[in-house]
Amino acid sequence: MIKAVRGTRDLLPPETALWNFVEAAARDIFRAYNFQEIRTPIFEETQLFARSVGEETDIVSKEMYTWEDGTEPADYALYEEWLIRRYPGIGTLERMGPDFSKRKVFGPTLRVHPKGKTSPTVVRFSHRATFQDVHNLTEARERGTGHPSGKPQLLLVTLSATLSESVRAFAKKEGVEIEELTLKDFAPPQSLTLRPENTAGVVRAYIEHKLWERGLNKLFYIGPQFRRERPQKGRYRQFYQIGAEVIGPPSAGSESPARDAELLEMLATFLERLGITDWDLQLNSVGCPNDRAAYNEALRKALEPVVAKMCVDCQRRAVTNPLRVFDCKVPEDQPIIETLPRISQYLDEPCRKHFAQVKDILTFVGVEFQENDRLVRGLDYYTRTAFEFTHGALGAQNAILGGGRYDGLSEALGGPQAPGIGFAIGEDRLVMSLKETADAVQHKPDVYIAPLGDGMNREAARLARELRRRDLIVELGDESFRLKKSFETADKLGAKFTLIVGENEVKSGNFALKNLGTGEQVSVPRSELAQKIQSSR
Ligand code: AMP
Repeated sequence: MIKAVRGTRDLLPPETALWNFVEAAARDIFRAYNFQEIRTPIFEETQLFARSVGEETDIVSKEMYTWEDGTEPADYALYEEWLIRRYPGIGTLERMGPDFSKRKVFGPTLRVHPKGKTSPTVVRFSHRATFQDVHNLTEARERGTGHPSGKPQLLLVTLSATLSESVRAFAKKEGVEIEELTLKDFAPPQSLTLRPENTAGVVRAYIEHKLWERGLNKLFYIGPQFRRERPQKGRYRQFYQIGAEVIGPPSAGSESPARDAELLEMLATFLERLGITDWDLQLNSVGCPNDRAAYNEALRKALEPVVAKMCVDCQRRAVTNPLRVFDCKVPEDQPIIETLPRISQYLDEPCRKHFAQVKDILTFVGVEFQENDRLVRGLDYYTRTAFEFTHGALGAQNAILGGGRYDGLSEALGGPQAPGIGFAIGEDRLVMSLKETADAVQHKPDVYIAPLGDGMNREAARLARELRRRDLIVELGDESFRLKKSFETADKLGAKFTLIVGENEVKSGNFALKNLGTGEQVSVPRSELAQKIQSSR
């Protein structure tokens, strides 16, 4: 039996009703705060995440689903085009066998029969030529060509940059000619990655579509993200995030602490709307590049005498990106981390002021928070405000959402200055913490229509059509069911009423409507059915 891959799962009814409820509530809130939806692709160039999330983060260094997207067999046309350019007097071209299916990177083989020439040429394409490519060609020679002149010429087409001396020597020995191309001549495979988060994609789209022309952008997204983490409760390899970004040119006010406070207040309102009241907002400022240099230096110094006692990851981080030491989850390292200097001591005046203003507005509008100067978040692009909302009921994986400012991200991706702030809610965890509300958000049929006797399916269908147009949830039975079976089915579905559609009812225009909760059964004229059912909602 084929099962869902480890770390992924099916979301099934009735639980999906809870997901819809959460997403509908999010959309309502986003509308009230004037956010609009953006949908970016599920995969992007790997470089996008390496440059934004950061090479040294757990996400980029070990959790991404990355692959080389080679040219597919369908791109034969591309090679044929190239061959026609190389052999202007070409006679015919023949595609040879689907052996490329075994390779990740393309390597189709074609046979060229140049006009007027005595023997054909077998050409193989390979981005990264290997001994195997040479073998494949010599095999083609062994097989012969059926041409009176016997052996074909062999040509391996590859990228100069990837060609090793040993492959070159081997090809020469085997009588395989090599033609070297540069990247310009044909597209190399691209490194692609399933998105591990969505901010990078949004900022890429902001730059690509010059969204600064619209001033301040308030964008939200809802969708799956992918990280190869060790699966456990509340942690999946395909998980879902609901997130939002406020990004724009500084002239549009994108840098203002008022935007940070607005976003945080919106989150508090959203959680309360869902009935989650026992959340904690952990708030910190991680400063800006100015502060970071001095702080990193202080961290390096403080780590020097103690780092040998820490885990190997921390030993590496101490050299490459000391701030990431705060991501460490190893219990033995925690007492050491507790003694390290904190970013809060290194904030410059503008950052300090910005943070103070965010806190001031939050206090003024009545959003509670806790300052936590250990909070650095697991992504490199954060500047200034960084935050997490946690929820005690969730246990170890207690962060429901996280976010922060990323004032330099656009520039790091080659865009203009575009300060921004955003967050991502872990939808899986949010839904998990709402399990008690699950029942309240289920949609059950208002009425179950039980056609009774031959020919009644069509009458029932017509009645269902009328009632559904009045916005009622209607389930249809079947004329082959006995009445008892219809009642049992209606009961199982949790329908409020059963409506019996038999020959007598159709003739008289009065229908037996039974309230399954109270057991009361009344006869209702067709024209009053919808209203009668609606009034009991
Ligand atoms: P991050 O993008 O790491 O800041 O994560 C934002 C939120 O997404 C976290 O607070 C979690 O609620 C959620 N999240 C992150 N990784 C996972 C995962 N592997 N499975 C489920 N939820 C996750």
